[in-house]
Amino acid sequence: MKYDIWRFIGVLFLGGLAGIVFNHVFLCLIVGLLFYIWWQYREFVKILLWLKRRHEASSPSQAGIVDEICREIDYLRDRNKSRKLKLSGYLKRFQKGTGALPDAVIILGEQGEIEWANAKAQEYMGVHWPKDGGLRLSNLVRYPTLIKYLDASNAELEKDLQITSPVNLKRVLEIRISPYGETQKLFVARDVTAISRTNQMRKDFIMNASHELRTPLTVLSGYLEGFVDDPKCPEQWIEYIKQMRLHTTRMQRLIEDLMHLSSLEANVGKSEHAVIFVPDMLLTIANEARALSGFMDHEITLDVDNDLYLNANQHELYSVFSNLVFNAVQYTPEQGRIALKWYADDAGAHFCVHDNGTGIAPQHIPRLTERFYRVDVGRSREKGGTGLGLAIVKHVLARYDGKLFIESHLDKGSLFRCDLPKSCVVNAETISQKTLSA
Ligand code: ADP
Repeated sequence: MKYDIWRFIGVLFLGGLAGIVFNHVFLCLIVGLLFYIWWQYREFVKILLWLKRRHEASSPSQAGIVDEICREIDYLRDRNKSRKLKLSGYLKRFQKGTGALPDAVIILGEQGEIEWANAKAQEYMGVHWPKDGGLRLSNLVRYPTLIKYLDASNAELEKDLQITSPVNLKRVLEIRISPYGETQKLFVARDVTAISRTNQMRKDFIMNASHELRTPLTVLSGYLEGFVDDPKCPEQWIEYIKQMRLHTTRMQRLIEDLMHLSSLEANVGKSEHAVIFVPDMLLTIANEARALSGFMDHEITLDVDNDLYLNANQHELYSVFSNLVFNAVQYTPEQGRIALKWYADDAGAHFCVHDNGTGIAPQHIPRLTERFYRVDVGRSREKGGTGLGLAIVKHVLARYDGKLFIESHLDKGSLFRCDLPKSCVVNAETISQKTLSA
C-alpha cells in the first residue's frame, strides 16, 4: 500500500512542479491526476486479463495494492483447488461405496426429479444415471402405488412399500424413502424376492394345511355329535365323547381363524363391499354376547348412533366387532359391566368396547395383536380362545385404513376402540336421498 501512496505523492509532486514551470499549477495537477487514474485503470485491466487466463501463476501488476489483491486471489485459488480435489476424492469414494451396495439408491429432488442414482438403480428400477438425471421418477415408473408413495407425507413414509421390479417382474422390491436436507429424499429399493417367496410358502402351507384338516375334523365332529345323541351309547363313554367334541370344536375354530387370517394376508383383490347397517349388526352381537355370558350375568349396554352405517364387508366387520365383544365377555368376571358404543366424530366412525374386567398389564399391550399371543395361555384355552382374534381384528382394520386402539389397566378393565376413516362412513341421510332419487 505504501508504494501506492508514494506513487500518488510523486504524481502530485511532478504535476505541481510542471505547473510552476509552465505557470498553470491547477491544470498540471489535474493532468497528473488523470494520468494516475489512467495508470490504475490499466493495472485493473491487467488483473482482469490475468484472472481470465486462470493458470498464469505470478501477478501481472507492479508492487502495490493491486499486486496484493492478486496475491490474495492467488492464495484463495490454491486453497479452493485443494478443497476441490479433496471433495472430488470424497465423492469418488462415496460413489464407489454406493456402487458396491446391494440396494438401488436414488436421490430425489423437491419435485421427485432424479438427482443421482447408483448402478443397481438401473438393474432394479430401470433408472439410468446420468441419462435419466432431472426426470421425475414417477414418470419413469408408472405404478399407481409407487406414485402415491412418492407423494406421501413423512409419517406415511415410515411404512415401506413392496412392488415388483419394473425391469424384472419376478423380482420383489421393498421400497423405503427417507426425507433429508430441506427437500431431498433418499430412495432405497431392496431385493426381497427370497424373503417374499418364503413368506408366500409359509402362507400357502398354512392355507393348505388348514383346508386339509377342515374336512376330516368336520367328519369327526359329526360322528361325535351322533354318539352323544345316540341313546345306545354307553353311559361311561358320554363324558369322554363330550371332551372329544369340545376339543374338535376348538380345533375347528382354530382352523377357521387361521384360514380367515391367511385369506386376509393374501389380500387377493378387495372383498365385496356393501352398505352395512352397523346398529342392527351390533344389536345381534350384543344379544349373542348376552347368550355367551349366560350364568355370568354381565351387564351389557349398547349406545349406538342409529344413522351411522359403513361401506364394508359384512363378514369382515362382524369378525372385528364380535371378537372384541366376545373377548370382553370372556375376560370380565361375573356380573361385570360391558359397554358398547358406536359413534362418529370429525375423524371418522368408532366402535368402543369398554369392560371392567381383568385388564391387561402394560407390557403385554403392544403384543396383543401378534398371532397366538396370549397374556395367560391356560386361561385363554380354557375359555376356548385361539389367540388369533386380535390379529384378525388388526388385519381387517388395516384393510379399511382403520386402527385398533387399546387402553387397559390391570384389575380395572380395558377399552378396545376401532377407529374407521371417514371414507368408509355412510349416513342414513345419504341412503334415503339415494332411495328417493332412484
Ligand atoms: P384369545 O383367543 O386368546 O382371546 P385374542 O387375540 O382375541 O386371543 O386376544 C389375545 C389376548 O388378549 C387374550 O389371550 C387375552 O389375554 C387378552 N385380551 C383380549 N381382550 C381382552 C379383554 N377385554 N380383557 C382382558 N384381556 C383381553
